[in-house]
Amino acid sequence: MAQPPTWWTPVPHVDGPLQVGQQPTADRYQWLVESVQEVIFEADPEGRWTYLNPAWTRALGHEVEDCLGKPFLDYVHPEDRQRNLDVFVETLSTGKEKCRFEARYLTADGGVKWMEIHAWIFRSADGQPLGSTGTLTDVTVRRLAEIELEHRATHDVLTSLPNRALLDQELAAAIERAAASGEPLALFFLDLDRFKLVNDSLGHDAGDEVLKAVGERLRDLARPVDIVGRFGGDEFIVVSESATSAAIRPLTRRLHEGFQAPFAVAGKQIVLSVSVGAAELSGDAAAAAVAAGDIARAAHDLVRDADSAMYHAKESGRDRTEIFSASTRERIVDRFDTETELRQGISRGELRLEYQPQIDLGSGHVVGVEALVRWDHPERGVLLPAAFMAVAEETGLIAPLGRWVLGEACRTLAAAEKNGTPFPRMAVNISAREMSAGIVDELAEVLAETGAPPDRLCLELTESALLADADAAQTTMAELASLGVGLSLDDFGTGFSSLAYLQRLPLCELKIDRTFVDQIHDTNGRALVTAVIRLADSLGLETVAEGVERLDQARALVDLGCATGQGFLFGRPASLAD
Ligand code: C2E
Ligand code: CA
Ligand code: CA
Repeated sequence: MAQPPTWWTPVPHVDGPLQVGQQPTADRYQWLVESVQEVIFEADPEGRWTYLNPAWTRALGHEVEDCLGKPFLDYVHPEDRQRNLDVFVETLSTGKEKCRFEARYLTADGGVKWMEIHAWIFRSADGQPLGSTGTLTDVTVRRLAEIELEHRATHDVLTSLPNRALLDQELAAAIERAAASGEPLALFFLDLDRFKLVNDSLGHDAGDEVLKAVGERLRDLARPVDIVGRFGGDEFIVVSESATSAAIRPLTRRLHEGFQAPFAVAGKQIVLSVSVGAAELSGDAAAAAVAAGDIARAAHDLVRDADSAMYHAKESGRDRTEIFSASTRERIVDRFDTETELRQGISRGELRLEYQPQIDLGSGHVVGVEALVRWDHPERGVLLPAAFMAVAEETGLIAPLGRWVLGEACRTLAAAEKNGTPFPRMAVNISAREMSAGIVDELAEVLAETGAPPDRLCLELTESALLADADAAQTTMAELASLGVGLSLDDFGTGFSSLAYLQRLPLCELKIDRTFVDQIHDTNGRALVTAVIRLADSLGLETVAEGVERLDQARALVDLGCATGQGFLFGRPASLAD
C-alpha cells in the first residue's frame, strides 16, 4: 500500500463530537491545528520559521522539516520581499499587535501562490518582540481574478494594449522620468487612413481583426521600451522616452515602412497606411510641469498637439508624419470650421463644377472634359478640392458631395445633348468612400432622372478605391460598367496597382499621373511612361496623360504613343461658359 504523504493528518480516534461545554483534549487541539486549511505558523523575532502546520506543505509543496529555522523571506517572491520586510519590521518596531498583508509565495515546483498573511506579535512584559504567530491563506484565485479585472480596466479588450486610462498614467510617469533625466519625450498619435472604408466594405468583424493586427504590428515596430497603446477607434499612441528631435524622423520612417506589408484579414490582403502626428516635450518643459504640479495638463497638451499634427498629416495627403509646431493648431481650428461650413455649403448650393479639356494629342481636338468640383466659400473665396476633400472623406460628407457632383455632371451632359452641342465625353471623379456606399443605385437613379447618355460619362476611380476590398470593387465596377458608363483608373502609378489585377477590371482608360509627365525627360521617367503606355496598349486601354504643362512634354508623349493629354498647356479647369 502506498505511504500517505507526510502532511497527512489521520483523524484521531474519538468517540464522536465534543459535548457542549466539554474541553477538547490537547490531542484534539493538535489535530484541529494540523488539519485546517489555513497555514498556521510561528516565527522567531528574526523572522525564521519555528512552527508550520501541514497545511504549509499542502499549499506550497515544501516539506515542513526543510523549512523550519529558515527565514520566511526565503519563501517570498523576490519582488515582494522588501514590501513584506517593511511591514514586518514596522509592526515589530511600532509596538503594534497585529499585521496583515498579501504576498506571492514560492511553491516547491517553481510556481507562485498569492497568500494573505495575518500575523500576531508576541511581546515580553516590557514590549520587546519575542516572535510572531499567525495564518497564511491561499488567495490565489481571488488575486488572479482581481488582476484580470484590473487588466481589463486598463487594457483594450481587442488589442490587449494599454487603454486610454493606462496611457494617461504611463504618460504621466514618463513625464516624471523625463523631468528627472532631462531627456526629451516624443509622443506619436497614429490614425489609420481610410479605416472607415475597411469597416464599410468588409464589415466590423474584419475591422476588429485589422485593429488587432495593427496593434501587433505597432508593438513590433516600436522599441521594446516604448509605450504603445490604443487611444480609441482606429487611433493609437506611441510614447518614446529619450527621443531627441533628430530621432523622430527615423522612428516614423520605420512606422510608415512597417505598414507597407499588407495585413491578412478575412482571407484578403489589405494594404493600409497610417497618418502620424508627433509632438515633443523637452526635459526642461517636463521638469517645469513636475515642479508646477501640472503633469496631467502637460500630458494632455502633448496628446492634443500630436493629434493636431496628425490631422495636418491627413490633410496633406495621409500616409505621412507631421511634427507639431505652433502653426499646426491654427490649421486645425480651420479643419473643424471646414466640416461645419461644408455641410452648410453643400445644402446652400455653394458647390460648382469646372471643366478641364482633354485633347487628342495628334489632332489637337477636344475629345472630352473632366469635371472638377469647386466650392465658392462665402468668406474664403473659391476653394479647390485639396482644401476640403480630406475633410469630406473623413466625415462622410463625401456622400452628399459626390451625389451632387454626379447629378450636376449628368444635368450638364443632358442639357448639352438637348441643345445639339453634345460633349464628346465627360469624366467625373469618384472617391474611394463613394465606391463602397451604394454608388451603383445612385448612378442608375441619376442617369434615369437626368436622361444623360451613359456612354458619354466616364468615372475616374483611384487605385485606393480598388485596394480596400478588391473583390467587392471588382463587382461594383462590373455593375457600373453594365450601366453603360466608362471606367478610368486615375493617378495611375501612384498607388500599389497589381498589374495582374488590372487585367480583370472592366476599365477603358488609364490616366498617367502628373508626376510621370513631369519626369518624362529623364531616362527613368521616360522608361516608366513607355512601360505604362505599352501595358495599357496590351490591355486594350486608352491612355490620358495628366498635368501636361509644356509643349515639349506633349511632343514626348506623342512620340511614346500616348493618345490623349490634359493639362494647363491646353486649358485650365474653367466654367462651362468659358
Ligand atoms: P485629379 O483627378 O488628378 O484632377 C486633376 C487635378 O490636376 C485638378 O486639380 C487639376 O486642376 C489639376 N491639373 C490639371 N492640369 C494640370 C497641370 O497642367 N498642372 C498642374 N500642376 N495641375 C493640373 P483639382 O481641381 O485641384 O483637383 C484635385 C483632386 O481633387 C482631383 O485630382 C481629384 O482627385 C479630386 N477631385 C476634384 N473634383 C472632384 C469631385 O468632384 N469628386 C471627387 N471625388 N474628387 C474630386
Ligand atoms: Ca481625375
Ligand atoms: Ca489624376
